[in-house]
Amino acid sequence: MDEIKEDSLWIHCPVCGGKTRTKVCKETVLVKFPLYCPKCKKEVLIDVVQLKIVASE
Ligand SMILES: [Zn+2]
Repeated sequence: MDEIKEDSLWIHCPVCGGKTRTKVCKETVLVKFPLYCPKCKKEVLIDVVQLKIVASE
């Protein structure tokens, strides 16, 4: 059996769900990070903790 260990992943835009060109690691912590989405063509503020991406208010 293959064990898939994801230590890092591409951030998906919380607005459109599209993949961005920003990567985060398991231990990455971002607060109000201006994520640029190539689909929305704008920046979205996000928080990232333990690979969980949440839109920042
Ligand atoms: Zn987007």
